[in-house]
Amino acid sequence: MKLAMIGFGQAGGKIVDRFLDYDDRTNSGIVRAAIAVNSAKADLMGLERIPKDNRVLIGQARVKGHGVGADNELGAEIAEEDIDEVQNAIDSIPTHEVDAFLIVSGMGGGTGSGGAPVLAKHLQRIYTIPVYGLGVLPGTDEGGIYTLNAARSFQTFVREVDNLLVFDNDSWRQTGESVEGGYEQINEEIVRRFGLLFGAGEVAGDQEVAESVVDSSEIINTLSGGGVSTVGFASEEVELNTSGGLLSRFTGDGAGDEGLDAANTTNRITSLVRKAALGRLTLPCEIEGTERALLVLGGPSEYLNRKGIERGRKWLEEETGSMEVRGGDYPREKPEVAAAILLSGVTNVPRIKRLQQVAIEAQDNMDDIQAESEENLEELVEDDEDELEPLF
Ligand code: GDP
Repeated sequence: MKLAMIGFGQAGGKIVDRFLDYDDRTNSGIVRAAIAVNSAKADLMGLERIPKDNRVLIGQARVKGHGVGADNELGAEIAEEDIDEVQNAIDSIPTHEVDAFLIVSGMGGGTGSGGAPVLAKHLQRIYTIPVYGLGVLPGTDEGGIYTLNAARSFQTFVREVDNLLVFDNDSWRQTGESVEGGYEQINEEIVRRFGLLFGAGEVAGDQEVAESVVDSSEIINTLSGGGVSTVGFASEEVELNTSGGLLSRFTGDGAGDEGLDAANTTNRITSLVRKAALGRLTLPCEIEGTERALLVLGGPSEYLNRKGIERGRKWLEEETGSMEVRGGDYPREKPEVAAAILLSGVTNVPRIKRLQQVAIEAQDNMDDIQAESEENLEELVEDDEDELEPLF
């Protein structure tokens, strides 16, 4: 499907930048337009792919291009004040060619955390196409203020979008790596997963037509109904059919062993589906109780078969207890077969409950410190016997 992506804040901008790179590499054509919004000028300048004209600096009057310093209330305020500037950038993109908006932001910071929900609310008022969010949760080691920001942004963002796709940095953090290097890998994981998913509805005219290709309306229907989503992914390398002969062993073209080879393809698909659903999700959660799901199988068309997808889909129905599990394939000439599973409307998410608990503790703690601060300062500044006089 074709998306208008808006990266809000530093993380949001960087991730949209990576999506453009992914589009170039894979020819998937999911980013119809890309915009970055930030209150920090340096962050906007650091982007590589997003066109300069599509980079919007907000809050100049208030923060002079220096960012909001993890103050997400200020982030929300300046987004509201400067929403017209963001709208101007959106006016320059062909929204009639776009299936949905995707607002991407890190929820732990200030600009994106506060601004992304404001923009979602604004877009919902103006456009009829869906507005989705891709929200990134901070790592648990980032500290109280980031957790509190994320918990508050999460509540607001979910309410304002048609669906909030969540990626949890904490689940993907790798020890012993620099933060920047770590983000590079994490961002690659984000675009790989969401790229396969959204790319599925965007099969170009010259690509082979699949047996049961996923349409963008199926992605939209899976996401409709709102709530929170997570994505599972698994892939396996395969050989492309370049020599002509080799592949027949897998596809059932070889005389005599047709049944076995078709069974092979089917088994490969079902095992990938299990791996994707039971492995690491973008937001860890219990998959039982998921309201709707979509299974996308990508790969060379020789490796995709209807029976495998149908079996994987049935298995997902059983695991989630959902009656609304869609499935289809996405043929692409890449030497891998990959399964992406969108689980939409997940509700059993202990990670969010923990995030909220830590956020409340951080909030109480900050309130206590603030309440005591005046008293403490007075105690420090005043001499015990009140013998000194201030100058004026
Ligand atoms: P903002 O510019 O004020 O919106 O804040 P940032 O986007 O810099 O940071 C918000 C949060 O996003 C941080 O707490 C991190 O958890 C996360 N973050 C920052 N940069 C990246 C990135 O490149 N990738 C990912 N996945 N997360 C990031």
